[in-house]
Amino acid sequence: MIIFNKHLAMIFILIIMPFHYVLADENTGNKAQSKHFHPKGKLPSSYTISLQNQQRSLLPFNDKQDFVEQQRGFIAKPDYNKIMADAGHVAWDMEAFNFLLTDKKLESIHPSLQRQALLNMNYGLYEVIPGIYQVRGFDLSNTTFIEGKTGWIVFDVLLSKETARAALNLINEQLGERPVVAVIYSHSHADHFGGIKGMVSEEDVKSGKVEIIAPIGFMENTISENVYAGNAMTRRMAYQYGTGLPVNEYGFVDQAIGKSVSRGSIGLIPPTRIIKKTIEEITIDGVKMVFHNTPGTEAPAEMNTWFPDKKAFWAAENITGTIHNIYTLRGAKVRDSLAWSKGINQALYQFGQQAEVMFASHNWPRWGNARIQEVMRGQRDMYANMNNQVLHLANQGVTINEIHNVYQMPKSLQKQWYARSYHGSVEHNSRAVINRYLGYWDNNPATLTPLSPQDSAPLYVEMMGGSNKIINKANSLYQKGKYKLAQEILNKLVFAEPENQTAKDLLADNFEQLGYQYESPSLRNSFLAAALELREGIVKGSALHSAGPDLMQAMTTELFLNYLAIRMDGRKAQGMSFKINLTISDGDTDLNEQFVIEMNNETLTNIKGHQANDADLTIITNRSVLLLFMMKKATAVILQEKIQSGEIVLKGNTEVLKQFKSTLVAFDQYFELLPGT
Ligand SMILES: [Zn+2]
Repeated sequence: MIIFNKHLAMIFILIIMPFHYVLADENTGNKAQSKHFHPKGKLPSSYTISLQNQQRSLLPFNDKQDFVEQQRGFIAKPDYNKIMADAGHVAWDMEAFNFLLTDKKLESIHPSLQRQALLNMNYGLYEVIPGIYQVRGFDLSNTTFIEGKTGWIVFDVLLSKETARAALNLINEQLGERPVVAVIYSHSHADHFGGIKGMVSEEDVKSGKVEIIAPIGFMENTISENVYAGNAMTRRMAYQYGTGLPVNEYGFVDQAIGKSVSRGSIGLIPPTRIIKKTIEEITIDGVKMVFHNTPGTEAPAEMNTWFPDKKAFWAAENITGTIHNIYTLRGAKVRDSLAWSKGINQALYQFGQQAEVMFASHNWPRWGNARIQEVMRGQRDMYANMNNQVLHLANQGVTINEIHNVYQMPKSLQKQWYARSYHGSVEHNSRAVINRYLGYWDNNPATLTPLSPQDSAPLYVEMMGGSNKIINKANSLYQKGKYKLAQEILNKLVFAEPENQTAKDLLADNFEQLGYQYESPSLRNSFLAAALELREGIVKGSALHSAGPDLMQAMTTELFLNYLAIRMDGRKAQGMSFKINLTISDGDTDLNEQFVIEMNNETLTNIKGHQANDADLTIITNRSVLLLFMMKKATAVILQEKIQSGEIVLKGNTEVLKQFKSTLVAFDQYFELLPGT
């Protein structure tokens, strides 16, 4: 998916996943259990198949209400199943997932995940109630159209311009052409705003023809959540989102809150109106809307919406068809399970008792007040239970390294499909709750400052009697279906001997069976992606997204300076010491910012609102020049021009800039996660 300029690679994190490559002969699918896509790949073992069968008998597969809700209101699907990007490649491909349209058991997929993957095959235009419509299956998220007096009010605009444009065309073809009069961004994740330019033009927003509404904190969080650790997050996405895995019953099958992520171009038009109060009512184009801010839930900035005249409740991404992530495995700050639960409870008491329909930016709607209250209460309780009962256990001494084997959802919730471990899993979320309150340490000094795995592993291997002994034992564990035990010893061997392909292949075989067994696509993808990398090396060259400059333009000067301090290698700055006064002054936007940037102790710091009187260098420039740096387009020739035209003024010792430049490092987007890959 993505490309960014390495500099800013992280901005687009949300954006970044390549649409999985598709194996032509594997995706047409009527075959029940086809050949594995990889020469070293293994089919599900008898142990895996028996676990899948056990799940079939334990879970309430006769409860079909989700299927009724998922199909209700279907109007039409388009006569195509691929959406092309303007750049010429395929941005979206539903056809690749057709192998899921079967009632056969696919033993390489957890039966509950196979069910969710089938539910997410929604594709086309749906009526939620008269006057409210959704286009589903055009991207990871849904886009929702509210019929106003004169035009459409659009709630969330997908990730890519191309998929958003296709969705707007579909509804206009089916229900008659109407202009978009307003857009609501429900929250600060890119699959909810990135497609904006496929729906409205910047001119129409500027002229006031189209209003864009967002929750408090939207712009700040859109950028900041993903910048500082961006390169690491991008790399980790290959695991959580399985971006290098083929779409296949042995590979990528679903992403829980939608099929996958589109691969078109991502943009951002800043909101023209921010909802600041917890509850705020606005009428646009004759539609009365009550916004409900829920900061610190699924996103740092997020809001629900209540339509009192329609008794309709829009749950943003706060309520979906799954346990969501308290900790998202690609990496992000751990979320607050209790705040999330309370956000749902507020909505339940404020709107939920009257609502006749509840719809959201992912999955499918719920109809009827009893059903709505059931789902809201269930989702409220699962986040509250996860918070409270994990801490209950922690207060009795259960540690972060044990909690996932101890904590369970209440039995009554385990039977509810909307409370299953798809996007978030009970396993990784329970560890996150402890991490949020107590941190990563289990309070055993042996794990407080442990040796690095590559330093401790050789001793284990030696004491276990060498690699042959380990491989023999691991083989016998694998044959008995004891995949976690085999993983334990093979992991040591792979760290001790990264070039030992036999060990890597055997570890991959164990990861693969575990991947098949997980209900959560986040876990499945992580195990299967690791297996693929152990067999084949790191999967490079996934098609990259071309993200426009919009997101970078939203980055503040201070955020950029903070990020430069992360990008520079302190070890290359030994002995360096300088001070720079920076002024960014912009007549167009009335921007006038001053900073002191100091290099000292191999550390780069900045402070806003100050100037040093003993600076080595003073730089006065404007925002558009700064953007060239942010976008890595500041070539020597361009800089020379800007200096000559007076857009950059340098006073003092310019040598310090050369010194600084020598410390900057371009991060490798494909660093190793497992040794020897
Ligand atoms: Zn989303």
